[in-house]
Amino acid sequence: MFNKILIANRGEIALRVVRAAREMGIASVAVHSTADADAMHVRMADESVCIGPPSSAQSYLSFPAIISACEITGAEAIHPGYGFLSENAQFVQIVEDHGLTFIGPTAEHIRVMGDKITAKDTMKALGVPCVPGSDGGVATLDEAKKLGEEMGYPVIIKATAGGGGRGMKVAQNAGEMERAFMTARSESKAAFGNDEVYIEKYLTTPRHIEVQVFGDGKGRAVHLGERDCSLQRRHQKVFEEAPGPAISAEERAAIGKVCADAVAKINYIGAGTIEFLYEKGEFFFIEMNTRLQVEHPVTEAIFGVDLVREQIRVASGMDMTFQQEDLQINGHSIEVRLNAEKLPNFSPSPGRITQYHAPGGLGVRMDSALYDGYAIPPYYDSLIGKLIVHGRDRPEALARLNRALGELIIDGVDTTIPLFHELLAEGDIHSGDYNIHWLEHWLETHMG
Ligand code: ADP
Repeated sequence: MFNKILIANRGEIALRVVRAAREMGIASVAVHSTADADAMHVRMADESVCIGPPSSAQSYLSFPAIISACEITGAEAIHPGYGFLSENAQFVQIVEDHGLTFIGPTAEHIRVMGDKITAKDTMKALGVPCVPGSDGGVATLDEAKKLGEEMGYPVIIKATAGGGGRGMKVAQNAGEMERAFMTARSESKAAFGNDEVYIEKYLTTPRHIEVQVFGDGKGRAVHLGERDCSLQRRHQKVFEEAPGPAISAEERAAIGKVCADAVAKINYIGAGTIEFLYEKGEFFFIEMNTRLQVEHPVTEAIFGVDLVREQIRVASGMDMTFQQEDLQINGHSIEVRLNAEKLPNFSPSPGRITQYHAPGGLGVRMDSALYDGYAIPPYYDSLIGKLIVHGRDRPEALARLNRALGELIIDGVDTTIPLFHELLAEGDIHSGDYNIHWLEHWLETHMG
């Protein structure tokens, strides 16, 4: 086991990793930009190193700064959190070249899953069901139009290098194809420096269901059920729950086994998420994320496991602490993402926190790096915390969420808290009857 690990991240996720390390008796090193000198993750870690100016490119994304911080402090391994360098294959290679351990999958697995066409081909070959679509990239408009006719509209044009919901365009009919195809290509070129796109059938009422997998890198892997993350704004998740209210125990066991078997076959190591669209009882693979997800706590709540601890264990060569038969679901969990954003436009709202009070009590978990007097810097993501609740069943979890939101105080900046108060008054949220478009429609009518 490692003696000391470095966390190449900031905010709540850096704190999350510090906590797991401390419980395991492992020393933690925080890195930070000059803008984050007073951040909670810096205060809570055993050591800290300033790695550069506020700009992420010169700090949290700087390979030399992070590798040097490991060398200065004697850290043996790097946990990347999510975002930043967590899915950067080149970084993983450099970490390994320096004799350090990356707490996550191999560079090769990240590379394969980072290219969406290769990821889809790989998953198809491993027996995972995929959204019907083009065989590989689509290079010309003529080819795109021909496919549209064959597959039937609507279709979605997606960037091979895509991520974060960018480079995706829907064509409802043949007349919209030219514009959608050209826009997807130019957006993709601008965002990712690569204009390769592919085409999929556009599903009109799916849910976003993602399966949590975990591998030991030695050919063993398990699944930890699914999360339903259908409540999205601009393809970004805002409310996540586990288990999925629309998924039966039989469906869970079947898709879970397909996913666990697939990652076992490729000797996957660590945490991964296989994302699907789910419509009329069928699962369609869209992508795999080769990292810990923002919403991992809902899975931890219902299975009673610490996924970060497991990540650190397998990275050090140890076994996972569980096998498939040990993983039994207990109750229901919901997470809401608290962003420093001003409604109704969700514009960033950085600034000083004048009062902070975290909710508590049975079944409440607050993952946040906020404190009284903390100044949220304007340079980074607007996520300032995650409120996670756990109950014996879904109604209890919803009631607990309502109660915990009522106790939560974050003053000094605008936040997305009022959005959740309003959502909890909606019948569809209580019945679990929503798909990936529900929230956008609701926002149009309630905040438009
Ligand atoms: P990204 O990596 O940019 O997040 P994904 O492939 O994961 O892209 O898709 C993000 C979201 O876009 C999905 O959760 C879903 O809301 C929507 N989406 C993607 N593919 C389709 C599709 N074939 N049909 C309908 N919606 C889709």
